[in-house]
Amino acid sequence: MSVPERPFSHDKSHEFGGKGLLERLRDGVVVGDGGYIMALERRGFVDVETWMTEAVLEHPEAVKQLHREFLLAGSDVLQACTYSATDDKLVLKKDLMSRHFSMIGVNCLSDPVMTIDTMRLMKEALDAEGLRPLLMTQPNGFFSTGTDRYGYRSCPEYPLALESGTVSRFDVYKYARAAYDLGVRYIGGCCGFQPYHIRAIGEELAKERGKLPPSSAKHKPWGEGVRHSASDFISARVYLEHWKNLVPPTGQPGPPSQHFEVLCREKVLHLKLLSFISKTNYTEVKLVISYSVIASAV
Ligand SMILES: [Zn+2]
Repeated sequence: MSVPERPFSHDKSHEFGGKGLLERLRDGVVVGDGGYIMALERRGFVDVETWMTEAVLEHPEAVKQLHREFLLAGSDVLQACTYSATDDKLVLKKDLMSRHFSMIGVNCLSDPVMTIDTMRLMKEALDAEGLRPLLMTQPNGFFSTGTDRYGYRSCPEYPLALESGTVSRFDVYKYARAAYDLGVRYIGGCCGFQPYHIRAIGEELAKERGKLPPSSAKHKPWGEGVRHSASDFISARVYLEHWKNLVPPTGQPGPPSQHFEVLCREKVLHLKLLSFISKTNYTEVKLVISYSVIASAV
């Protein structure tokens, strides 16, 4: 995460300055949008049996509102809500076969960490072939590191209980920085990426883009928001490192969860941690966890 040296004005124009998307991508960063279908399911407009977007016809105001929220969060591009409505796989295959594609990307199934790892491998392969397409990443807003090729769909929580694995805005700061440094210029999100996640992309890349997202007018980036909390123990969290190093929470007070970074990536160990932490103190937990790691490695 990088904190801009100077304040930026909030972006009020959403113009591409008459430029097309590809031209705009060659000039700088384009911030994408997030996941529509999961957000609409949670709001009661889509069923998980079909994932059909009949909401576009039945509740156009709900779809429009979500588009508006992504726009305020700083999205440069708003995608048509057409999930399950087109055979996009066919189009992608055709594009790849012709090798005349302008942009290539990683979308859905994995979390920001896995998506960046995948894009890094793809870029190596493209470089080796002398190909230089524009790069795009749209990860999910749920942690799924360590899952198989079905990504988050292989998590037992998919699709109805994924909330506890939601990435934070600070995870998205890290993702946006890693994507940018890798050369990705279309940076957005897929399932589980909500407007505030998109805003985090715009905030992290404020320096590169010369502006902040419109809804940053109501949000102090980089943890500043807690500075004037009425409670001392909350305002004490104002320093960036606190937020930067957090990992998925244990839901328990006491020692910060970042001490268990290694473990929280492992679902089983994370569950063990949850049960132990409620019964024992920090030192004991650390000891138990060490044994768990050794046991799982054997
Ligand atoms: Zn998705």
